[in-house]
Amino acid sequence: MANQSEFDYIVIGSGATGSVVANRLSRNPNTTVLVLEAGGFDHNPNIPDIGGFVKLWGSEFDWLFTTEVQPGMADRQISMNQGKVLGGSTSINAMMYVRGNPGNFDQWSKLGATGWDYESVLPYFKKLEDFEGGASQYHGAGGEITVRDCPDAVMRSPEFLVAATEVGYDGPDWDYNGARQENGAGFLQFHIDPAGNRVSGATAFLTPLLETRPNLTVKTRSAATRVILEGKKAVGVEYMHLGKLHKVKAKHEVIISAGALQSPKLLMLSGIGPAAHLQEHDIPVVVDLPGVGQNLQDHLQLPIVYQTKTTRPNTTLLTGNVLFVNTRSDRPNDPPDLQLNFTPSVPEPLAPILNFGVPVCIFLAILVQPQSIGEIRLRSKDPAAAPIIDPRYLSDPADVQVLIDAIALARKIAQAPAFDPLNAGEILPGEAAAEAFVRSQASTLWHPAGTCKMGQDEMAVVDPQLRVRGVTGLRVADASVMPTVTSGNTVAACFMIGEKLADMIISG
Ligand SMILES: Cc1cc2nc3c(=O)[nH]c(=O)nc-3n(C[C@H](O)[C@H](O)[C@H](O)COP(=O)(O)OP(=O)(O)OC[C@H]3O[C@@H](n4cnc5c(N)ncnc54)[C@H](O)[C@@H]3O)c2cc1C
Repeated sequence: MANQSEFDYIVIGSGATGSVVANRLSRNPNTTVLVLEAGGFDHNPNIPDIGGFVKLWGSEFDWLFTTEVQPGMADRQISMNQGKVLGGSTSINAMMYVRGNPGNFDQWSKLGATGWDYESVLPYFKKLEDFEGGASQYHGAGGEITVRDCPDAVMRSPEFLVAATEVGYDGPDWDYNGARQENGAGFLQFHIDPAGNRVSGATAFLTPLLETRPNLTVKTRSAATRVILEGKKAVGVEYMHLGKLHKVKAKHEVIISAGALQSPKLLMLSGIGPAAHLQEHDIPVVVDLPGVGQNLQDHLQLPIVYQTKTTRPNTTLLTGNVLFVNTRSDRPNDPPDLQLNFTPSVPEPLAPILNFGVPVCIFLAILVQPQSIGEIRLRSKDPAAAPIIDPRYLSDPADVQVLIDAIALARKIAQAPAFDPLNAGEILPGEAAAEAFVRSQASTLWHPAGTCKMGQDEMAVVDPQLRVRGVTGLRVADASVMPTVTSGNTVAACFMIGEKLADMIISG
């Protein structure tokens, strides 16, 4: 198969979404599928090791993008790690498994993503999942993605969870992937297998099949440079492998799953995007689609640090306890805008950079319904150039307010009786002015989304079947198609998008 020049389907990118799409489409032995992945194989001991991924930042497994200067973030440029390896960001992520709020998907549907309401997507989440608690109305069993309550014993914190109940939330054993996400405190769930190894898109959906499915071909170190179009029909892909340009034909479809930062880049390099911007770069316009690269949304994280009364062992995972809340009392039925994670000591992977000289615990506030919207643009028409990433973080004052409210909530929980065994006083933000602290200390949680949004309005890039508008034979499937980012870590929704797309293609 290695030199085959035509496949039924070509999937660009082997991350959360592309891995599922390739797996499901190649179930039919008569369907040939090629996966093009810019990164290499996932042969590195820090990938399966659930404490190891931080060591991969800045390595060959990381695209290590950087944002433009962010005026809302004290004029900082923010490092944006993204997986460049088989499995994509699922091979270097922190493995938290959060589906998002049912209201997120119902909102997608209201915004024009017909068929993506919660009731419609829940079966796809369940199909993928092997939940350690077994199958139920809200959980799946027998799927490829093992989902477990926080497996790091040191991480589990009754102090935080019970304190959250003392200030009025449900818990302390809340299943936020169950009937209700918000207003309950419980353990975070993780995509980690029973042996304690990372479950990635690659380990779950691709590598086990490489020997057994001759109709599935995975080419690593193969970076797509553009989609080949005949008129307005996608007929193949041009890609760079070991310094040489290759072409491969797609008999049926090309599916771009290169992630929210690079799928819009690839569309634009192929002549699909805002006409004036393409012309700036001398790229012939095939379809003027003004929404390509727009609508960039991302989650921000903010550490709130307390000194603890005793020294506890470092944790293996970054975090493990969580509470989802909606800080906006005027819109109580909206999806949560704040995810408050908690770590009772220092995560081992971050120990070298988190040295306060005293024992500490960490609340991690995460802005999960950002109102600040940014964009991706081309820096150049050279496919090897990184895109311009401008999230416009904290440009909407409402986002700053959510993180200020998060500081107040962490303080309230820290004052509750159950937290007393830990609480030896606040270190961060301490006396710092709240807004200045937020703007100078927040950073990305690496969840870019929304840059090829699904919908039916003029800024939509794909329709609800994820077909690129104005072109045939071309779809986008990954975090970029989310009309709005979900309330929680994004990987579960990306797996689901892949599962649902494959079903739409297979069922015609
Ligand atoms: C450091 C980090 C920590 C994270 N922690 C969590 C977490 O704990 N929980 C969670 O839910 N989410 C987490 N995420 C986010 C989550 O992993 C992503 O939302 C998800 O993987 C996105 O899926 P995707 O399919 O859109 O893209 P990705 O999984 O990023 O896959 C895109 C793939 O496309 C490839 N690619 C790009 N361009 C090309 C090209 N031109 N040709 C060929 N291949 C290309 C990339 O190399 C990559 O393999 C984290 C992400 C990072 C980076």
